[in-house]
Formats: sequence, C-alpha cells, structure tokens
Amino acid sequence: MCAEYVYPRPPPQPGQQGDRDMRQQPELRSVSQHQRIVADLIRRRAPVVAGLASAFGRVLADDVTAPIPLPLFDNSAMDGYAVRAVDVVRVPTQLPVVEDIPAGRGEGLVLTPGTAHRVMTGAPMPAGADAVIPMESTDGGTAVVRIHDGATAGNFVRCAGVDVRKGDVILRAGTVLGAPQIGLLAAVGMTTVGVVPPLRVAVLSTGTELVRPGQPLRSGQIYDSNSIMLATALRGAGAHADTVHFVSDDVAQFNATFAQLGDYDLVLTSGGVSAGAYEVVKDALSGHGVEFAKVAMQPGMPQGAGSYEGIPVVALPGNPVSSLVSFEVFVRPAVRTAMGYRKALRDRVTVRLAEPLDAPPEKRQFRRGSLDLPSGTVSLAGPAGSHFLGSLAGADCLIDVPEDATRMEAGATVSAWLLD
Ligand code: AMP
Ligand code: MG
Repeated sequence: MCAEYVYPRPPPQPGQQGDRDMRQQPELRSVSQHQRIVADLIRRRAPVVAGLASAFGRVLADDVTAPIPLPLFDNSAMDGYAVRAVDVVRVPTQLPVVEDIPAGRGEGLVLTPGTAHRVMTGAPMPAGADAVIPMESTDGGTAVVRIHDGATAGNFVRCAGVDVRKGDVILRAGTVLGAPQIGLLAAVGMTTVGVVPPLRVAVLSTGTELVRPGQPLRSGQIYDSNSIMLATALRGAGAHADTVHFVSDDVAQFNATFAQLGDYDLVLTSGGVSAGAYEVVKDALSGHGVEFAKVAMQPGMPQGAGSYEGIPVVALPGNPVSSLVSFEVFVRPAVRTAMGYRKALRDRVTVRLAEPLDAPPEKRQFRRGSLDLPSGTVSLAGPAGSHFLGSLAGADCLIDVPEDATRMEAGATVSAWLLD
C-alpha cells in the first residue's frame, strides 16, 4: 500500500469535464491576494543608528549621499615621478627632481616646467603636473631622473571625484551592508549609518503529536521539524527568530503560550489551520482578528493571517513542505519588504522542464525542482505531496506552475525561484 506515492486527483463532478471540476471555487483566495494580505500585516520597524563596525549584514534605511568626493584630491596612482607630459615627449630624457612627495604630504606644491617631483602612490599631484611616470620607466634617480618611456596627460593620475562626486547617492536605501559598502561609508568619513533593525519573530509550532528532537518518541509521535526549519528560514531572510517550539492542540495552552509573545513583531505559527478537528490555531484565533482562508495554491492551501491581541500573526499549514513553501511565497517577501530590503523576492530564472508534470486545476502549484543551468532545464525533485521533506531538502528551486496549467510537457517553459 505504501510502495509508491500516488498524487491524489479530485474525482470529476457530475456535469463537469474531467479534473477541471475545481474551477471557480468561490472561496479560494488567489496567491497574490494572500501575499498582499500578509504584506499589509507586517509593519516596518523604525530605523536605528548603527556604528559601522556593527552594521554588517544590516539593511540601509535611507539613501546615503557622499559628503566628499572620492578621490578627494588628484593623486598619483603609482610610485614614480609627477611631470608635465609635454616635458617627456622625447625619450629618453632627464629631469631634475626638485620635490619628494610621500602619501600624506599636504602643502600645495607647484611643479616648475622642465622638472619632476618624486611621488608615491596616493600622494597629491603638484599643481602643473599632468602625468606620472612609473618608477619602472625610470632609473629611480633622486636628484636627477632619467626617463625611458613617455606619457600622455592623465597617465597614472587619479582625478578628484572620478569615482564618487560630492553629493552623489553612493548607497541606496535597501542595500545590504557588506564589506565594500561599509568600506565606502568609511572612505567618505562616516562612522555611523541608519539601518532597519531585523524583525523579531516568534515561531510557534502546534501539534499534540510533536516531540522536540533528541527526546524519545512514543507511538504516533513525530519530531517537530517546522520550528527550527521556519526559524532558520527567517534568519536566512534577515529576521531575528526565536522558536517557542510547540504547543499541543489545546486552545487554552495555545492562548497561554501566545500571551507571552507580546514583544514580537510577528508570530509565525505552523499547523492547526486546515479543515479537520483539533485545528488549534484556527480554533484559538478565528473571529479574533485572524482570518483563515483557502488559497488557490498547492501545496499550502489552508492559510491564516491577521492580528491577534495587536500582534501580527501568519498561520501556516503544518505539513513541512506546505509550511516552507508557504513561507517562501507569503512570509519571506513580506518580511524582507518590512525590513527594507530592495531585493525582497527570490531571483527567478526561466527554464525548460526536463520532464512532464501534472498540476491541480485552478491552483498555482509550486513544485520542488533541481536546476541544470548550463542546459537551461529543471527536473522535478520528488513528488508533489506536501510531506516530502526529504525531496525538498534536495531541491534548489521552486517551479512556479501557473494556475491554468493542469499538464506541462517536457520542454515547456517555466519560471523557477532560486532557493539558497
Ligand atoms: P496540521 O496542519 O496540524 O494538520 O498538520 C499537517 C501534518 O503536518 C501532520 O502530518 C502533522 O503531523 C505535520 N506537522 C505539523 N506540524 C509539524 C511540525 N512542527 N513538524 C513536523 N511535522 C508537523
Ligand atoms: Mg496539527
């Protein structure tokens, strides 16, 4: 009986054709409608000021303009000799060396025609000089220098403002601050920067059958994998996540646990939202500001979202694949938008199916896939069922199968969302 997983297909209804019977189910909410509902729920946190040393990985709250240009002044790109290009038109030639300018020497020097100043990399160019002859093109003389190779004006000169002009927007709001961005802020003299703090999310899994990994299992029990999986996914999205592990399917226990979560920006629950009995999240939150709906999506049809006791709640289904796919589709983009990320969505690629697939009618399906980018194809990573966590762990993308597709042949073009 359990040898092979058969993807369940709805039986045809009288008077309707084949498996298109689910078309026009009035209660189904579209994926994009539910995405908007979740996005509207999660409030952006107020920016804070961070020292550059602690800004790594944070999201820039506002555009940053350059208070100074980069380079700040014309300077030498090489160790060598600052000259006038017209004085080295004919080579070899010799010029007297009248100044020695290391990096950091600041008084405004002027080059007299027919002379050279020895300059080090980063040293200010003397007024009147328009080229640098690298040391390697000379005999390295300190009183008189013999120059073998000529130069045109501008040779090895780093002009003020060529990289960044004063007043330029150097970093856009929503940029994730990494080493180059933090380096740039330091280069223009900044010590602090406005960043959006990460959202604080509590992950609350529900299910009487759940046992914390590491503990012995009794018959009928399973390990709670959603708590740590969703918390990890939240951290991957840039949020701060705490796992509250799980509560049993008991409304009083759920409410008592929830009452301790008042400090969070979002509570993310899993399980207890579908159509069976013992749907603890639905039972506890329905009619109290959280709405439960069926979304035209597979996996992940039952979803809940709203505010309970003033705290935004997103309630995901419990099947692990449904949970994580729902997270990708609804929670991750909303959380990243609320945290100010310019890149809130996963990168997507258009590829061809390496094999055919069947999809449920009138539902957007997210199949787990394995990409072969060199050939521009994607294969299915496991069956469609929402309990195939092993297959999900081997996938590197979600194949976004449009609502109107019930069958796609090998070679058909699909969009794939790249996972980490
Ligand atoms: P539910 O949405 O509560 O009806 O759960 C659907 C399925 O997902 C059931 O097989 C549950 O045992 C399983 N499930 C629910 N929560 C978790 C969890 N935290 N970790 C692993 N499996 C879960
Ligand atoms: Mg349950």
